[in-house]
Amino acid sequence: MLKAGIVGLPNVGKSTLFNALVANAKADAANFPFCTIEPNVGIVAVPDERLQVLAKLSKSQQIVPTRIEFVDIAGLVKGASKGEGLGNQFLANIREVDAIVHVVRCFDDDDIIHVSGSVDPVQDIEVINLELALSDLTQVDRRLDRTRKQARGNKDAQIEVDALEKLSAALNEGKAARQVSLNSEEMELVKPLGLLTSKPTIYAVNVSEDDLANGNEWVEQVRKIAATENAQVVIVSAQVESELVELSDEEKLDFLQSLGVEEGGLRSLISATYQLLGLRTFLTTGPKETRAWTITSGMKAPQAAGAIHSDFEKGFIRAETIAYHDFVATGSKAVAREKGVLRSEGKEYVVQEGDVLEFLFNV
Ligand code: GDP
Repeated sequence: MLKAGIVGLPNVGKSTLFNALVANAKADAANFPFCTIEPNVGIVAVPDERLQVLAKLSKSQQIVPTRIEFVDIAGLVKGASKGEGLGNQFLANIREVDAIVHVVRCFDDDDIIHVSGSVDPVQDIEVINLELALSDLTQVDRRLDRTRKQARGNKDAQIEVDALEKLSAALNEGKAARQVSLNSEEMELVKPLGLLTSKPTIYAVNVSEDDLANGNEWVEQVRKIAATENAQVVIVSAQVESELVELSDEEKLDFLQSLGVEEGGLRSLISATYQLLGLRTFLTTGPKETRAWTITSGMKAPQAAGAIHSDFEKGFIRAETIAYHDFVATGSKAVAREKGVLRSEGKEYVVQEGDVLEFLFNV
């Protein structure tokens, strides 16, 4: 399962946001047959309106969304890369995640102490990113030492040395590894390092309820930084999300309307995290269940079948395929077949976003 790590300075709203994520997941517990929640790990459904539509058409008994695991990685402070706080341990946790959600404080509140005295998202981002870059630099330089020794007369090792040198130079300037342009061969060679600053990143800017609709000056500052780093920005209000958890559906609607928004940002954050990784969703639907499945872009039909069960992949014959919009327009598989929009796709078919699939396979 895709794993996203929540990082940020202390007191920016990470735990508040994480608790809201988990509380929402718990509220959905009926739809979570496999939901397990550890203290700092929450499994969250990826919102997808298509599931409700298909479930209604197929009269499905249940809906099973696809999921993301969020990990609250607290304790990243200035000096972490040198072992301050619980430094290195936290950095090791981040190395395991597929994507980073970097929470940035963009709300003012005199009662909540800011670690460096005043609200300053630009400086906050620099502090965290510097720790991540320094930690990466240590990894890269250590690897560089070793690879240089092997490089004499070894072409592959020399390619790796060149890539590592590029990374080392950029990290030394405080840049992120994802800002360095590497070709696919170089990328493969340095992948095992699990560089923190090469991970896809979303800045979750935490604003007060009044700024949820339109953002504020601090949010604009973060947007500028994100644009230079190939990172994304999502506006959330951790406070609003934590209050929403307590409310009935009707009260939620009233509260959000009074703020001029449709949601508190959590939904957008989950969706953005999912999209960040270039993932694709295909759908299965029937009387038993309507379900979303995650694959990576470019996957062919047999591999997609393997996401459901390895036997489906081994015995793959073909995939009866209907594009989501065709399914909705025709209302059922039978009509889709009559109208000629049901396609029979073979082993080489690249599964498209929103395909409604049924696999035929040998057992
Ligand atoms: P963490 O250290 O990053 O995990 O931060 P917490 O989630 O524990 O939040 C620190 C404090 O800030 C708590 O008292 C929260 O209630 C408060 N807080 C979090 N988000 C907001 C917000 O959007 N607005 C305001 N005013 N306070 C918030």
